[in-house]
Amino acid sequence: MIVAYARGPPVAVFAGSWLCSRSPVDGTPIALGEPVGDCSLPERLARLTSIATAVFLLKEKGMRVFYGGDDQEELLAAYAGGADGALKEVKYRLGVPESPDDSAFVVVEASGEEEVRRALRRAGEVYRRRVDVLLIADLDKALRLGPLASGVVLKEPPNLVAFEEASELPEIGRCTHCGVDFLMYGSKISRCIYCGRSLRGVLTQRKPTLRPEILRAIHRKLASGALPKRLVVL
Ligand SMILES: [Zn+2]
Repeated sequence: MIVAYARGPPVAVFAGSWLCSRSPVDGTPIALGEPVGDCSLPERLARLTSIATAVFLLKEKGMRVFYGGDDQEELLAAYAGGADGALKEVKYRLGVPESPDDSAFVVVEASGEEEVRRALRRAGEVYRRRVDVLLIADLDKALRLGPLASGVVLKEPPNLVAFEEASELPEIGRCTHCGVDFLMYGSKISRCIYCGRSLRGVLTQRKPTLRPEILRAIHRKLASGALPKRLVVL
């Protein structure tokens, strides 16, 4: 079924190309309102895209982001949003211990700024070496308190985005200079009508290799330049 990005932030990050016959590559920014693919399981797609988008929003604030769940597909979605790693793949412990161990990361929960700062101080007193203190939190709290810690662990990702059924899937050409997506229902163009630069095709049948470093690299490349702010119908 053809799906359009119907609800969420102005720009989301697509994930779940493996559910689609035609779609953006995982890690591609998508603009609210645009048709994005021919895909099955739109609710699953929305969950995967929500995770990629949540990671993206945290990374935009300059945070290091680790995914805290176990689901392999959701982890891939997190990488498509630019995640730095999966909690289960690093050496960590929960809470600041009484005496130092060989953990590289200490994961803490905190309800406010004071608690984060206290955890950082106690980690320093116990370890007396570099140790990263990660705050485990949902998206809202991570956005608020994450910048105080060494990074965040995204716990329960929110339902940030939703898709709805659309009747047609046009070609989409993106100008990453102007931040415009051209939806080509009628005429087809290969250059931006505002600046003349070549358009990048958004929809493809090509699937990326589902490996963390590749997904992260693709996302970095696709999210460089102006994000799509505006849709133009041709
Ligand atoms: Zn342009």
